[in-house]
Amino acid sequence: MTTVLAEHLAAVIFDLDGVVTDTAAVHAAAWKRLFDDYLHERAMRHGGPFVPFTERDYREFVDGKPRYDGAASFLQSRGISLRWGDPADDPNAESVCGLANRKNALFNDVLRAHGVQVFATSVDLIRTLRARGFRTAVVTASRNGRQVLEQAGITDLFDAVVDGVLAAHLGLPGKPDPATFLEAARRLAVEPTRAAVVEDALSGVEAGRRGGFALVIGVDRVGQADSLRRHGADIVVSDLAELGVPDTPRPGSHGGQP
Ligand SMILES: [Mg+2]
Repeated sequence: MTTVLAEHLAAVIFDLDGVVTDTAAVHAAAWKRLFDDYLHERAMRHGGPFVPFTERDYREFVDGKPRYDGAASFLQSRGISLRWGDPADDPNAESVCGLANRKNALFNDVLRAHGVQVFATSVDLIRTLRARGFRTAVVTASRNGRQVLEQAGITDLFDAVVDGVLAAHLGLPGKPDPATFLEAARRLAVEPTRAAVVEDALSGVEAGRRGGFALVIGVDRVGQADSLRRHGADIVVSDLAELGVPDTPRPGSHGGQP
């Protein structure tokens, strides 16, 4: 089944991990290794039961959020309160920032070992969109965003990139706040009402809805279509091959209103 993107759209803004690049699983695995080690060590220390970090924990508390927010959100869900620390904290520090930095080191180990995989159907869609005059941007909470794009060789697919480094520099709150998506729309010179957001995280579709975007497309690769809809997706696809692009060339920055 194909859903054709509406004619009145002028831009499409993509999340990176799990939508364009197949790095969501790498992030999830790195978080799991971090938290399972930490929760285990804590259980030994305090004598409580060891309850592992689950895929559900990842989706509910971590996915799509800035590194430190995700770590804090999960720890809070387990009633663990740690000092926030500082982004410069050593990865071995027992602080929110320390733990999140340890996760980042694990993530980079995997990236170095395996490289970055892209979803070919996503790249195809983006190339078609650009050939037909749509502007495109990528928004990711990841501070490794630029590095991931370069390693995957797809930097030229986007007119604008808003990653975790830029967001921190501009003081923009992360998803589910819409600020990073709105910044991407601003950089594309497109009103949110003429832009679509494509996201695989619950926090991300929520950000798309809160930002007042014309269309929020949820990408479901893990069987959470209902949750994506509840958090704000207008439609849910399992792969971007299900999205069609209007044949007519885009009218540019004017005209094309429905
Ligand atoms: Mg994602």
